[in-house]
Parts: sequence; structure tokens; C-alpha cells
Amino acid sequence: MRAITGVKIVTPNRVLEGYSLIFDRKILKISKNIPKNIDTIDANGLYLSAGFIDLHIHGLDGADTMDATKEALDIISNSIVRSGVTSFLPTTMTCSRDRIREALKNILENRDGVAGAKVLGVHLEGPFINPKKSGAQNSKYIQKPDITLIEDYLEIIKIVTVAPEVDGIREFIDEVGGRYPDILFSIGHTEANYQEAKESFKWGVRHATHLFNAMGGMHHREPSAVEAVLDDERISCELIADNIHLHPIYYSLTYKLKRDRVILVTDAIRATCLKSGVYELGGQRVYVDESGRATLEGGTIAGSTLRLNEALRNFYGAVDISIPELIKLVTVTPAKILNLKLGKIARGYPADLVLFDDNFNIRAVFVDGEERLNSLC
Ligand SMILES: [Zn+2]
Repeated sequence: MRAITGVKIVTPNRVLEGYSLIFDRKILKISKNIPKNIDTIDANGLYLSAGFIDLHIHGLDGADTMDATKEALDIISNSIVRSGVTSFLPTTMTCSRDRIREALKNILENRDGVAGAKVLGVHLEGPFINPKKSGAQNSKYIQKPDITLIEDYLEIIKIVTVAPEVDGIREFIDEVGGRYPDILFSIGHTEANYQEAKESFKWGVRHATHLFNAMGGMHHREPSAVEAVLDDERISCELIADNIHLHPIYYSLTYKLKRDRVILVTDAIRATCLKSGVYELGGQRVYVDESGRATLEGGTIAGSTLRLNEALRNFYGAVDISIPELIKLVTVTPAKILNLKLGKIARGYPADLVLFDDNFNIRAVFVDGEERLNSLC
């Protein structure tokens, strides 16, 4: 049992001061009194919140989910902790059938063996998407909806990004959703118009992959999937708040309409945390400039080099939002859409914890009560 004292504890509703958090593998208590003879960490006025959850991350620090090796998964799990992330969904790319299956097999076999942030499952980004909105997904590998690609791995798949206008998607959702009702279908890399998107919500689509990016834009006479998502309170949406994928006014507009259906993700690629240069993403060259902007040869934005604590900083700088409401976008909300008991400072929840300062610099991280990062002294 340990205690963290001298903290501002971020709960879903408020920031508590003058209390300590007592935990072992789980959160035991928020208390004014600390039991005698237990190890105490003085956080010196930092914020303490539940660890962050990233639902959409390809890789960082030189490693990518599509490398399909235990070593790559370990690097991602260990490095992502530096952004305050304690659990994540490694995210696949639109690649050949064999490569996608190798990546899924690697995650299935090694997800419990990682030493840093926890692997919650997989976000399958494609390959059942619209080639006209492939973005940085390699359109050469876009495939017809086919359950046999993933049926050996359904137990680890949490989110599947699909373009609903693609032939056979409805049947695919029926079949997969019938067997694994907890899998979340997400509209993305799509040219669906407003009506087509609304129709897909009837089939069970409940999430939107990096809203605004790789889909139709807003238009007052010809609405697209964007307006359909904004108008339906059942649909949660990802935002890449790196100030590159979106103008910050879109953080504020989206938050006003979607509130606790907004989830900040990174969509980070292997170049994240590394220098500018040429990298690989889904078998394509990616050029990363000094500002961290990642693009394909033709200039298409290719994922990000964003870290989740930077996303919080960017969002907080642009939106009139309180700290508890902000932190929900990377804790309570992603946990809720995955149906997991995670993401809250509350008794009985896993002691996945992050200490950060007023500028969202990460100072210490605990996963299941174990210290994974500590720069407090
Ligand atoms: Zn992505």
C-alpha cells in the first residue's frame, strides 16, 4: 500500500485539494488521513488523474503496430507512458491480408507481456474503407469486407474503422456485431453523405474515427458524415488535437456540440518522439519536418507525431473547459465507449495514475499501482 500526498486530485466532477490517494494495485481510498508506516510520495502540488487512454495510435519511438513483433509492442508500451498514457489500442493500417493478420497475431500473443502501458485490444483502421478517402492508408491494400480476415482475433478487436458506403459493410457489421456485440464500429476514411452516415448508425455504427479528417467536409446544402456525427448524441468521436489536422476552432465547436462524446487521440506514427526525417507508415514513405508535421510524398497528412499530453495542452488552450472535463476526454469517455472499468479516480478502480503539472508535463506514472515513470525529484 502507498499514498500520494500534496496533490490536486482530478475526479470526473471536480478537483480535490487537501486529500491523499491511497492505493495498491487498485485505488483504495481518497482520504485526509494517511495510515501509519506506509510509503508516501509527496507530489508537491501536481495534478493527479487516472492514467490516459489512447484509442488510436500506430506507434512511436521507432516502433509501429504493423512491425508485428513483441519488441515493437514493448517499445510502444514503454514509450507511451511518457505521455501519461497507461492503456491504449495499438492500431493497424490498411496493408496486405497477411501483414494485418501477423500484426493481430502478435498483439493476441503478447498483449499481456508488455511492461509499460496496458494493451486493451486493437483498433483495426481499414482495410474496409473508401479508396477516395484513404488519406495515409495505402489504397492498394483496400479490401472487400471479409470476416475471415479477423475472425481468429475477434476477442482482441475493440474498434473497426469502416466506410459504410462500401459494398458489403452492412452485412459485415451484422455478422461481426452478432458474434461480438462489444466491438465498436467507427465511421472513417469515408465519402458517406449525411443520409448514408445516418443509415449506418441504424446498423450499429457508434463512433467516428478522427472526425473531420479523411471524410467529407461541412457544407450547408450538402451535409456529409460530419454533420451526421455532430447531430447524433449516441456517436462518440475522435479528434486529433495537434493543431495540424484541425484548426483549434474545431476543438471548441465540436466540444460544444458533443461534450462527453469527444475523445482525444494521437494517431501517432513511429516518428513520434524522434527527429525530423524520412520514416515508414503502412509500406509508404513519410516525411516528418522540424515542426513534427508528417506527410506522404504528395503532401497528404500521414498520421501525427502528437503525444496525448500535448493534445490536452492544445485543447485546453483553445476551449473554455475545466480540468475535470478536459481529463474526461482521455479517461472516462474512452473507457466508457469500450465498456471498461478504467479511467476514474474511484475506489476499486485499477491504480493507473498520472501526475502532471499545470502545463501538462508528465511527472510520474503508475500502472496497476507499479511506478512506470518518476521525475519528481
Ligand atoms: Zn490512424
